[in-house]
Amino acid sequence: MNYNVNEKGYYGVFGGAYIPEMLYPNVEELRQNYLKVMAEPDFQKEFQQLLRDYVGRPSPLYFAKRLSEKYNTKIYLKREDLNHTGAHKINNTVGQILMAKRLGKSRIIAETGAGQHGVATATVCALMGMECIVYMGEIDIARQAPNVARMKMLGATVIPALSGSRTLKDATNEAIRDWINNPVNTHYIIGSAIGPHPYPDMVTRFQSIISEEIKWQLKEHEGRENPDYVVACIGGGSNAAGTYYHFLHEESVKIIAVEAAGLGVDSGESAATSILGKEGIIHGCKTLLMQTNDGQITEPYSISAGLDYPGVGPMHAHLCKTGRAEFMSATDDEAMKSGLELSKLEGIIPAIESSHALAIFEKKKFKEDDIVVVSLSGRGDKDLDTYINYFKL
Ligand SMILES: *Cc1c(COP(=O)(O)O)cnc(C)c1O
Repeated sequence: MNYNVNEKGYYGVFGGAYIPEMLYPNVEELRQNYLKVMAEPDFQKEFQQLLRDYVGRPSPLYFAKRLSEKYNTKIYLKREDLNHTGAHKINNTVGQILMAKRLGKSRIIAETGAGQHGVATATVCALMGMECIVYMGEIDIARQAPNVARMKMLGATVIPALSGSRTLKDATNEAIRDWINNPVNTHYIIGSAIGPHPYPDMVTRFQSIISEEIKWQLKEHEGRENPDYVVACIGGGSNAAGTYYHFLHEESVKIIAVEAAGLGVDSGESAATSILGKEGIIHGCKTLLMQTNDGQITEPYSISAGLDYPGVGPMHAHLCKTGRAEFMSATDDEAMKSGLELSKLEGIIPAIESSHALAIFEKKKFKEDDIVVVSLSGRGDKDLDTYINYFKL
């Protein structure tokens, strides 16, 4: 079984590029060039150097001793929370801004929901002196004021999406419209392992530095490269894709994906796409998607903004359908409890997204000598208000 993308841009039956005709030249230019550009020694040199000196890689692989004792297994945390800007998203935006430069682009657009991807994009645009336009739903602008301020400080223009529900989906539509109108000078930085081919594969490759490092770091710690399990939370699926990438075809490594169950999988207020989703098209690719019987996309819900997405990247849809990955979910309450637990046991306050991945230890029993690597996708600073309100701190 092949778990990587094929020549046509598919992972099994999922993926592809379902885009308006007018967008075809832009996406095709990227498709024809992305692998070639990424293989250039100059590109790799600049990318690796920025990952080291700007992002702060390699991120540590930390043996969480007290957490391991509590659950009677060996838990390692891959510390993406220590990256510049506080999460894994910067790995992808650094890669894509270098790609945009190589393709001769001078203007960057992005869409953002909670603002995390917008901040990571505005950051690399400042770094490279490129114009940056971020589309964001009017409702999201109101509820994510600190991230809007960050983007502005970094020199980006934040344009409100005023149509529809005025959230992420509408911001995405605005970004696509912009790209159609500016095909020559503009690159669209997508923030997760989603979108039309080649985006899911390109984002996965930029994030694959995560599993590349896990291999040699685990070898140093344990004398072997492969853990028994790799675990990550899934919104669109970029931190997960990067965490799994170099283990996809290692049969001894089991893969666990953790989705947000919100108020409960059957509550009508969740984002558990693999359970509730059906095949459909979102954001330019065929994948699993939460939708009504007549194909309207269902509004997802999760306490964590980064997991509040109605679809999942096509690679993950394939991993789910083939049974290569075990899909689990955690509710708001379970995730919050695990976030507090990690804070108290290890002195690490995780992003609420990452707390979902940690919640599996209450649900699944691991063996004493199992090595379980969990992607700690981000830090909890951005979530402090949510933690405060939830725990009445
Ligand atoms: C955005 C985000 C996620 C979810 O995005 P993926 O593409 O699924 O990785 C998870 N964790 C953090 C900290 C995020 O900022």
